[in-house]
Amino acid sequence: MTTLHPCLTCGACCASFRVDFSVHETEELGGCVPDGLVVPVTDHTARMRGTDHAQPRCAALTGQVGERAACGIYEWRPSPCREFEAGSAACNRARQRHHLPALDGLVL
Ligand code: SF4
Ligand code: SF4
Repeated sequence: MTTLHPCLTCGACCASFRVDFSVHETEELGGCVPDGLVVPVTDHTARMRGTDHAQPRCAALTGQVGERAACGIYEWRPSPCREFEAGSAACNRARQRHHLPALDGLVL
């Protein structure tokens, strides 16, 4: 039996937090995050579109939070997304926000 990775039925972090990163990660400045999904914040900082809404949801997120979710730009996602850890306190805060149970003792 294969166990589905918990992120594939979650997506809560992509619909909970502002996602900011260096402008150098954008396609425009030589990085890989697609420009159409990015909003400028300052000369140095860019943000994933949709993550600063009152009910945040990254424009790159596909699917339905808590059911089936995926990052539409997984290979090109910015560093905060690469560094975010499933099972961390922040992960569980996001899951709680979306009424999903905490991930306990997850080893990935
Ligand atoms: S909130 Fe946690 S479990 Fe859900 S997608 Fe993000 S890292 Fe994965
Ligand atoms: S870029 Fe992908 S991993 Fe990052 S917040 Fe958006 S949907 Fe989630």
